[in-house]
Amino acid sequence: MSKKINVTVWNEYVHELKNEAVKKLYPNGMHNTIKEFLSTNEDLEIRTATLAEENHGLSDEVLENTDVMLWWGHMAHKKVSDEIVEKVHKRVLEGMGLIVLHSGHFSKIFQKLMGTNCSLKWREEAEKERLWNIEPNHPITQGIGEYIELPNAEMYGERFDIPTPDKLIFISWFEGGEVFRSGCVYERGHGKIFYFRPGHETYPIFYNPEIQKVITNATRWAAQSNRFIDNCPNSAPLEKLSDKNIDFGKAGVSQVS
Ligand code: ZN
Repeated sequence: MSKKINVTVWNEYVHELKNEAVKKLYPNGMHNTIKEFLSTNEDLEIRTATLAEENHGLSDEVLENTDVMLWWGHMAHKKVSDEIVEKVHKRVLEGMGLIVLHSGHFSKIFQKLMGTNCSLKWREEAEKERLWNIEPNHPITQGIGEYIELPNAEMYGERFDIPTPDKLIFISWFEGGEVFRSGCVYERGHGKIFYFRPGHETYPIFYNPEIQKVITNATRWAAQSNRFIDNCPNSAPLEKLSDKNIDFGKAGVSQVS
């Protein structure tokens, strides 16, 4: 059997402990609900990590052994340590997949990878959302029809301050009239990134089979078996060079410590 995909589901896990409605919906935390449905796939090996754990549950060993990370955060983005963000960022550039869910749009790691502030409009009125699948041949949308309909969703509206996605997979329409780029694909370094909008903490979004299907597909799509570390090497010439530049000095500075 081929190697399993090692997945780490990261959740700040704050709402579920503080808010009764969220606790009722996700008694073991959203990370465990996500773990549960991902774990039904034999090719996926799932662990979870949360903010309150040492190193937010993201030790060097965990990062080293993660092929794909899922990220859910909202009220505690600022409590995530810059050191950990730096390490996660480095792993993405080396080829670790990253799936950023819902309010993760404002996480430090997503902002760092995008280079923009990732602001958007929002409204919490449990309105209808229709996510249009505009890339039906993409690995992330396999098994998904022309659209997904969520009866009760938080509205996220444009303008979403992100760089133009490498590929736009879903566009949402909301009952109140707004639209939103809800499924966005990027590459940063060697890593594949997918931003997926649904997942508000007071609605049962992560129990929806179609949402689960998209997240499962995205997890497989973002996984890569190879890792590349770009470290700015000094390079010997492939061909013999003429000696015409021999009078120029060398600084010999390496960018890499
Ligand atoms: Zn929300």
